[in-house]
Amino acid sequence: MHILLVGAGLSGAVIARKLAEAGHRATVIDGRDHIAGNCHTERDPETGVMVHRYGPHIFHTDDEEVWDYVQGFMRFMPYKNRVKTTSQGAVYSLPVNLHTINQFYGRTMRPDEARAFIEEQADTSIEEPQTFEEQALRFVGPDLYEAFFKGYTEKQWGCSPTELPASILKRLPLRFNYDDNYFSHRFQGMPEHGYTEMVSRILDHPGIEVHLQTWFDPAAAGEYDHVFYSGALDGYFGYALGRLGYRTLDFKRFTYDGDYQGCAVMNYGDRQVPYTRITEHKHFSPWETHEKSTCYEEYSRACTPEDEPFYPIRLVDEKALLADYIARAEETEGVTFVGRLGTYRYLDMDRTIREALDTVAAYLSDTAQGRAPRAFYQPPMG
Ligand SMILES: Cc1cc2nc3c(=O)[nH]c(=O)nc-3n(C[C@H](O)[C@H](O)[C@H](O)COP(=O)(O)OP(=O)(O)OC[C@H]3O[C@@H](n4cnc5c(N)ncnc54)[C@H](O)[C@@H]3O)c2cc1C
Repeated sequence: MHILLVGAGLSGAVIARKLAEAGHRATVIDGRDHIAGNCHTERDPETGVMVHRYGPHIFHTDDEEVWDYVQGFMRFMPYKNRVKTTSQGAVYSLPVNLHTINQFYGRTMRPDEARAFIEEQADTSIEEPQTFEEQALRFVGPDLYEAFFKGYTEKQWGCSPTELPASILKRLPLRFNYDDNYFSHRFQGMPEHGYTEMVSRILDHPGIEVHLQTWFDPAAAGEYDHVFYSGALDGYFGYALGRLGYRTLDFKRFTYDGDYQGCAVMNYGDRQVPYTRITEHKHFSPWETHEKSTCYEEYSRACTPEDEPFYPIRLVDEKALLADYIARAEETEGVTFVGRLGTYRYLDMDRTIREALDTVAAYLSDTAQGRAPRAFYQPPMG
């Protein structure tokens, strides 16, 4: 079969590779002038630092098969994500842990004392928190909420935490020990030569052709036996029902002679600082030496039709529109929607690879048994 993959990000690359290994021809197109999608890394021409053009990407997973899969293409260097935040005139460790709590309150509490102390701060009159703000007040109390969650969340989502569901905060951990490793997964690391080189190796197979600066034309779909589409779901239908809501990010680059902030990621919790964080990219490659440094200030705002979509909003209105697009997609033959844009979800890289591997296996099994391929192998709702 000759199959078209729209998008040369992780979804498109992993699916193309598996199809090619199964003996099919895979043509991969991407509208951008580079492969690797949003994980794209490149050397900053001025400083030589490997930068993550679309924001910081740290590989972390509990999925051993996915960990083995990526290492089949590139060595992963040890890397622990340790994030700091500047808030109310001081620097603290994230995620909120015993060090953060003791520093913030000027105390020397042990774990049990800190747990009891935080319970005293919590607003127990809120029995069933519905909003992000209620969830924070119920579990950490007003002081930590103001310092570490409120301003950052307002900047990130462009709305009040009273308008966001409680479920968003449920994902933010609060620790009563000194563990400041941002992720708690078993495997964590950085690809030695960057994500783009890793994706280039995944795509390096005689059965795969790649065409960049090539946008998908639905009229061309008929030339292929099947299409895997990792572009925006609403974009496939020409936004006919309206646009699914996204946040986009602006990055303001600056360089510095030396070490600007001493860590890779510094968040800014105060509302009056306009950016959410500063990333100093050379700290993602501690095995390299660079005198000069490249940093990005990161600003979050509503996504317009001209912008790159980053974070799906997925509140009540968006979910209703999503359901309508899903219904349309399910009526469309010959296309499978994949990846973060095709299924309108936030997906970490490990999850993206896991879903790509599962999708291609299910697709090959369906076609081998004469069944029609499905529009979605991963349900976009939920
Ligand atoms: C700011 C930010 C930080 C992140 N940090 C992490 C992290 O630390 N760790 C982690 O595991 N994950 C992280 N992620 C998630 C990671 O970026 C995704 O898991 C990954 O990019 C998903 O790959 P994909 O192939 O599905 O989508 P993408 O990478 O978005 O690839 C889709 C590709 O399709 C192309 N395309 C779209 N429409 C068309 C069209 N019509 N025609 C042609 N081409 C088209 C696009 O140009 C793009 O290159 C982060 C995401 C963001 C936004």
